[in-house]
Amino acid sequence: MTTFHSIAIDGPSGAGKSTMAKALAKRLGFLYVDTGAIYRTVGLYVARQGRDCSKPAEVLPCLDEIHLSLTYGEDGLQHMILNGEDVTAAIRENEVSRYASQVSAIPEVRTFLLEMQRDLARRHHVIMDGRDIGTVVLPQAEVKIFLTASVEQRALRRHRELLQKGETISLETIREELIQRDERDSSRAAAPLKKAEDAVELDTSALTLEESVEALLTIVKERISI
Ligand code: C5P
Repeated sequence: MTTFHSIAIDGPSGAGKSTMAKALAKRLGFLYVDTGAIYRTVGLYVARQGRDCSKPAEVLPCLDEIHLSLTYGEDGLQHMILNGEDVTAAIRENEVSRYASQVSAIPEVRTFLLEMQRDLARRHHVIMDGRDIGTVVLPQAEVKIFLTASVEQRALRRHRELLQKGETISLETIREELIQRDERDSSRAAAPLKKAEDAVELDTSALTLEESVEALLTIVKERISI
């Protein structure tokens, strides 16, 4: 039986997890799994039904109606398919961040998505990013990285990203939303955002993307012989 390598990257919103994990996956030939996208898809569905994402009684009946799958395009990018519709672009809208954070605090939602994430790691070499990958989803991952950056840097990066997509929203609003989301993600009872004991912490505030990727590669190569 082939055993597959797993790399877990966790950290707060906007720390650059997905950008770096994507770059690293390309360098290593691993599958990149963005677990935030999965929570976003659930949040999008619930909100589209006109339901309140923060209320378990409104969210839980939706789970039976959701069929989710991940596909990978020729570009290697992860696409989210929700009941047959490709929602990859729709889940990136700013308000979906909040919906995702709200539904993700509900334990049943996390259980609903857990097997899907673990199954990918059973069948591929993966770099998976999220909030609880090193602590809950893949506690056996050979490499665990906790990526951080100052809230100012994270807000700036996210602001730039949204502007590029044509969403105009003030830097201050983004900063406030990030702080709120981190607070909700860190303080929830179910799989909160926290550094696994055996994770290596990397603060990317003063690093360029290239420098961050090189630093991550060094950490990976110290732990996995590839
Ligand atoms: O990573 P991203 O910002 O796309 O994630 C959106 C939200 O999904 C996070 O704020 C968090 O509440 C939730 N999430 C989670 N566990 C993960 C990944 C994301 O709770 N593994």
